[in-house]
Order: sequence, then structure tokens, then C-alpha cells
Amino acid sequence: MCGIFAYIGTRDDAPSVVFEGIKLLEYRGYDSWGVSYIPNIKSKKIMFEKHSGKIGDSFLKTTIKSKIALGHTRWATHGGVSDENAHPHLDCKGEIAVIHNGIVENYQELKVKLSKNNHIYKSETDTEVISHLIEDRLKTSDIKTSVFDTFESLIGSNAICVLDLKTESVVACRNGSPIVVGFDEKGKQYFLASDVPAFLKYTNKVHFLEDGEGVVVSKSGIKIFDIKSKKEIKAKIKKLDWQLEDAEKGGYPYFLVKEINEQPKTILKSSLINKDELDKVSRLIKKSKKIVLIGCGTASYAALAGKYFFSNSNIQSENYGAYEFLPFAKFCNKDTVVIAISQSGETADTLIAIKEAKKYGAKVVTIVNARGTTMERISDIILPIGAGPEIAVVSTKAMTAQFTILYLLSKTVENKYNFAINSIENLSKKLKLWMNQKLFDEIIKLVKEIDMQEHMYVIGKNLNYPGALEFGLKIKETSYIHAESFTAGELKHGVITLIQKDTPCFILASNDIVKNEVLSSAAELKARGGYIIGVAPFESSEFDATILTPDLEDLTIFGNIIVGQLLGYYLGIGRGADPDKPRNLAKSVTVK
Ligand code: GLU
Repeated sequence: MCGIFAYIGTRDDAPSVVFEGIKLLEYRGYDSWGVSYIPNIKSKKIMFEKHSGKIGDSFLKTTIKSKIALGHTRWATHGGVSDENAHPHLDCKGEIAVIHNGIVENYQELKVKLSKNNHIYKSETDTEVISHLIEDRLKTSDIKTSVFDTFESLIGSNAICVLDLKTESVVACRNGSPIVVGFDEKGKQYFLASDVPAFLKYTNKVHFLEDGEGVVVSKSGIKIFDIKSKKEIKAKIKKLDWQLEDAEKGGYPYFLVKEINEQPKTILKSSLINKDELDKVSRLIKKSKKIVLIGCGTASYAALAGKYFFSNSNIQSENYGAYEFLPFAKFCNKDTVVIAISQSGETADTLIAIKEAKKYGAKVVTIVNARGTTMERISDIILPIGAGPEIAVVSTKAMTAQFTILYLLSKTVENKYNFAINSIENLSKKLKLWMNQKLFDEIIKLVKEIDMQEHMYVIGKNLNYPGALEFGLKIKETSYIHAESFTAGELKHGVITLIQKDTPCFILASNDIVKNEVLSSAAELKARGGYIIGVAPFESSEFDATILTPDLEDLTIFGNIIVGQLLGYYLGIGRGADPDKPRNLAKSVTVK
């Protein structure tokens, strides 16, 4: 996790450029932040400022002029949340500053090796050992070699970015954690960041650093190297179609509500981008003997929804939370297709599962939103979902885009691609009409009725089961209320003991074959005193309150889930939570 940003260029306010850049990466970690810079006026030390707490609530104090700076927003893994543990971490002489994304798994061992050299540690982080390792190597080699060799000695998924006072340069390396290089059109400013939105204001010309690549940036230019051989390699520059609006709130108070509202558009966009790839995956699926869908968190619910979509198209599949896949990976072989789903394309648990499946010969298809990711590189076929940058930590538009692609894929295998495209177009239109002030007012009214409750339950069956899981997760992530989701069928097997008078129970339903069964479950919950809230395209006497959603057969779950997103958002706001940055979470879970 964590956000990395560096700037080298012609401007004299590099610390502010970096500060604004890491603010845009805050979704990656918000325990603390820090900025380091080399002042224009000669200085014997690198200067820095670092603080615990969210960068979004902070101000940069320095006004010192500088053309080269880097900064970090932290999601702590080793060492508590404190000013000292905030990055950057400097060497003993204050001549280099290191920011880091990941975990140095062998940091204890490296620390022991270094201890003879009497380094002074100022933090409890795994990161600081990197600064001292580089410091030692600098006695005998140049900055590029020192950083590259140090990086090679680290075990784990890591990305580092190092500011060097003497050469006034930044050296960065990637292995498992993302770094992307941004080049401005005139070739006079360079950016390094964990994610593109951080510098989208300046440029959309990028090179995604690959694992094993390093980069050296100075006033005189930028060079990309293979870290091991130290040989220079050519940048693969791409121009992204992302717009600046994608990285801004565009009049909304939070990214979360902006992204929820973008869904009618992003769902349609996702459906239109992958015709050839969908055909390719469809052929692969038809040839295969086994299909496995995997993901973590929201993406695991997309994987589960995929299993239902596939079944409706008469395709048998299995699904796993990627973190629980390893015991079953041995059943994969060359006739297996693993479909891995991830917003970031960097989810550590999913990457591990993919690598394991590949060992047994499985073909891998990934459904990803971010660009230039590790997952794209290690898959056989990529289905980009094209939802645009998702900045809020809680996934909304990426999730509905994943559902869209899975639905389309299932229908493509059934040779019903055109039907599916029309259905999605219709879904997009219906959602656009439905997501209006009247809906928001109804949800706000409901929120006022239930926001003092500490427990809520969500039930669904068939496709509304993954829908219910996602609905519950949105409430938990955004408002911190305990919202537990069950399949309607599970109720009688124990769960019903939890229902007390006035417990809010959400019933997610569609006009499908299990509608009556789900309504019977609602009646059972009502008989135990539950406050029954129907989220469905119909009214029912079993419901004490109803949020009506568009009636769209299999696609009804989209509206049903969006109600959960909005509820989470309004409940969270009412309780003083930060909708874009829920406590303890970070967007891209690049650690195991
Ligand atoms: N392991 C480092 C720390 O705890 C970096 C964590 C991150 O990626 O933010 O400081």
C-alpha cells in the first residue's frame, strides 16, 4: 500500500507539487505523510517535513524553493503510526531520503548485518534499513549502483524511491509494488508515482515501470535500467486516455459519491471495450475443462456473481477468495482457466494465487481496472474494465464494471453477445433515470430511521446473494456498522437467533424464481421483530419500508447493490466517518 510521489523539474515549488501529488494518493494509506526536498540554495542536508495523521487534513509548512522533491503517504506495516515512523527515512548524514511501498521481509536480518557499522535508527520501520544499506554502499559506489544493489538484497514485494543530495537525482526501483513514470510534453519535468492520477494534472504520457526495472531521474533527463544487469532499456511510453476530471471530485464532496454516480456511464463504457478479448476468452472457456473465478474483498463477490452468471449460461465454474485458493491450486492443469478479478491488478493474495495456478499449467484471464499492473503482465488474456481511476478506497464503479464484464463474458460464451450488450445499454439508461434526487432523499430518510443501530442484516438468494455480500460490505466499510450478509437459505440454520426487535433486515430481491422463497424469509424475520427493508423492483406486504430498484432480470442486482453503496455513504457521513478513506483500510492491498 502507500503512495509514492517524486518530482524533478523546472518549478521552484517542488515540495508543494509533491504535497499535492501525495494528497491524490491518500487513498493508498493515510497513517502519516512526509515530504523531502533539496533546496535551491546549497544545503548540507536533505530537508524534510513529516507528520502522523491524514495528509488531507494537513498543510505543508515549508515555502523553501526547490526543484526536486519526493513524498509519501503511509499505510503502516512495521512500526506504529508516529511522526518518527512516517517516511521519508534518511541515512545518518541526511544525504539520502528513502520512501518505500511494501514490506522488507528480511529487514531484521539486514539490520543485524548492518549493526557493526553503528548506524543510528530513528524509527521502528522496516524501511529505515534501506537508507542505511544505501549509505554504506555509497562509500564505494555511485548512487545508481548503491540503490540498485540494495534493492536487490531486499526480499518481498517492494518499490522504493531515493532522493540523493550529492547528485540531485532520484533513483527508484520496482519489484511487485507499482511505480509509474510521467513525462511532461516539453521533456522538462518528470514525475514518479504509485498511480497515474497523482500527476494527471501535468501529463498523461507514462511509462509503467516493470518488476526488475529501475529509473534514474535528474535535471538532465531520465534513464530506465534493468536493475540486475544495470543495462539501460528503452522507455515504453504510452499516452493514456484518462482525463483530469477522473482524478478530481468534480463538484461532489467526496470521490465515493462521485464514483457511485458515475456508474450508469462506466457500466456502459466497460461493456463496449473488449469485444475481441471476450471472443478470445470465450473460445478458451469452451475448450477448457474447469473454470475458476478468484478475487479478494469486493472482487471475490464479483467472482461469486460470475459463478451465478456462468451457471445461468450453462457454464460450470468454481469460485474462491484468492487468499483461500492455495490448497486447491493443485487441481488446476492446462485445461483450467483461472479468471482473476482485481481493481488494482496488484492485490498480493490474488497475485500469489495466479502464480500458483500457473505452476500447474492453468491459463489466466484477468479482469482489472488499473493500468500497467503486475496482473496484466502475468496473465494470458486481459479484460480491462475501463472504469477509469477509482480513488475512493471503497470500490463501487470498478465493482459494477467487473460484474458487467462477467455478465458479458457469460453471454458471449452462450453466443448471446448482442443480447447482452443491449441489456447493458438498457441497464445503463434505467440506472441513469433512477439515480435521481428522489432516490437519494428516500435513502437519506431511511438512514435517519436506522442510523442508531449497531447491527444490520442483509439477505439475498441466487444472484442477490453475492449482491447481499457486497451490500453488507459497503455498509461495514463506509459506516463501520456491523452489517452481516447471509443467503436467505441460511437463516433458519442458526442466524435467525440474532434478530431482535427493530433490527434492520435488508431483503435483496428480484423478480426471479426464488422471489417467493426470499419473501418467506422476510416474513420469518418480521415475525421475530426485525424491521424489514425491501430492496427490490417490487413492493410487498412483508416489507416495512421499500427502496424500489429497476426491474432488469439478472441485472436487477446492479440497482440493489447501488442502494447498499448509497446507504453506506450516507450512514458513514452521518456518523462522521470519512467516506473516501475508511479507517484501517487502503485501496490497493499489495501486502499479504
Ligand atoms: N513497510 C513500510 C512501513 O510500514 C511501508 C508501508 C507502506 O507501504 O506504506 O512503513
